[in-house]
Amino acid sequence: MQTSPKNLIDAFGRQVDYIRLSITDRCDFRCTYCMGEDVSFLPRDEVLSLEECARIVKAFVSLGVSKVRITGGEPLVRKNAIWLFEEIGQLAGVRELVTTTNGSQLEHQAQALKASGVKRINISLDSLNPERFRNITRVGDLDKVLRGIAAAKQSGFENIKLNSVLMRGINDDEILDLVRFAIVQEIDISFIEEMPIGSVDHARDSSFVSNIETLATLQQNFPLISSALNTGGPARYWQVAETHTKIGFISPHSHNFCEACNRVRITCKGELYLCLGQDDKIELMPILRANPNDDEPLINAIIDSMKIKPKGHDFDLQRAAPAVIRFMSHTGG
Ligand code: SAM
Ligand code: SF4
Repeated sequence: MQTSPKNLIDAFGRQVDYIRLSITDRCDFRCTYCMGEDVSFLPRDEVLSLEECARIVKAFVSLGVSKVRITGGEPLVRKNAIWLFEEIGQLAGVRELVTTTNGSQLEHQAQALKASGVKRINISLDSLNPERFRNITRVGDLDKVLRGIAAAKQSGFENIKLNSVLMRGINDDEILDLVRFAIVQEIDISFIEEMPIGSVDHARDSSFVSNIETLATLQQNFPLISSALNTGGPARYWQVAETHTKIGFISPHSHNFCEACNRVRITCKGELYLCLGQDDKIELMPILRANPNDDEPLINAIIDSMKIKPKGHDFDLQRAAPAVIRFMSHTGG
C-alpha cells in the first residue's frame, strides 16, 4: 500500500492540479476538424457511468486536484449530466468547476449548470454566418447556439468565453466579427490553433492559421493591452481597452506550453492520458470495475501514473500522419 501524497507531482516536478474529464464521445454536431461525418460512437457499456466519473473526480480531488473541466463530445447531451456537475460542485476541494460546450443545449440547461456550482463556461463558436456555421459543424444550428449564449449570460456565470478555431479559407475572414460579437456580448474569446489530432477532410497545413498572425491582425484593429491574467490554462490574454472583453490565444504550435503543464485528461472510456499529444496512458475502467467499493487501487494507480507523464508533445504539421491518431471528441478538448 502506498501512502497518499497530498499533491500529484510528476517526474519533471510539475504539479497536476487540473483534470479534464470527457463524459461522452457523443455529440449533436460533427465539426469537420473534430470528427468524421460517419463517426461511430462507443457502446454504452464501454463508457464510464456517471457514478464512475464521480469516483474518478473524487479520487483526483483527494490528491490535491482543485480544477475540474467537464468536456466531451458534447457533455450536455449526456443524460443526467447535471447530476454529475452537482456531485462535483459539492466537493470541498474543488475550487473551479468549469465546462466546455458547443452551446446547443444551454438554452435549457444553463441555469441548472450554474446552480450546480459551475463558475465559468467555454462555448465553441467558429462562425456567425448560419450557412458557414452549418458547414463547419455539418449539422449545427447557429440560432440555437446564440440562444444558448443568451441563456448563459442570463444565468450569471462568473465568466463566459467563446472558443474559436480559425481555419484559412474557411472562417479566417471572421476574426474581427467574432471579436466584435464578444465585445457587444461583454464576454471573452479565445482563438485556438487547429491541432493535428485525428484525421480531417481538409488539408491541415494549408488551413492552419498561427495565433501570431491572428494577434497581429487584431492589434491592427483593436487597442489591446497585455493582460497578466492566469487561468491555469495555456491561453495568453489581451484586454481590449475600454471593453469587458479579453482575447486569449491557445497556441500549441507557436508557443510551447508543456513546461508549465498542470493537467491530465480522462476519456469517457476511463483512459487517463498524461499528455494531449502523446500516447502514454493508463486504463482506469478495469480498476474501477474490479474494485466497486474500494477507491484505494484507483488512487494508487493515479499516483503511479505521474511517473509516466511525458515531458512534452510533438505536433508537426508537415508530417504525413497526425501526431496521434486520436480524435479530440475522444480525448476531450
Ligand atoms: N463539444 C464541446 C465543444 O465543442 O466545445 C466540447 C468538446 S470539443 C472537443 C472542445 C474544444 O476542442 C472545442 O472548442 C473545439 O473547437 C476544440 N477542437 C476540436 N478539435 C480540434 C482540433 N483538431 N484542433 C483544435 N481544437 C479542436
Ligand atoms: Fe462536437 Fe465539440 Fe467536436 Fe464539434 S468540437 S464535433 S461540438 S465535440
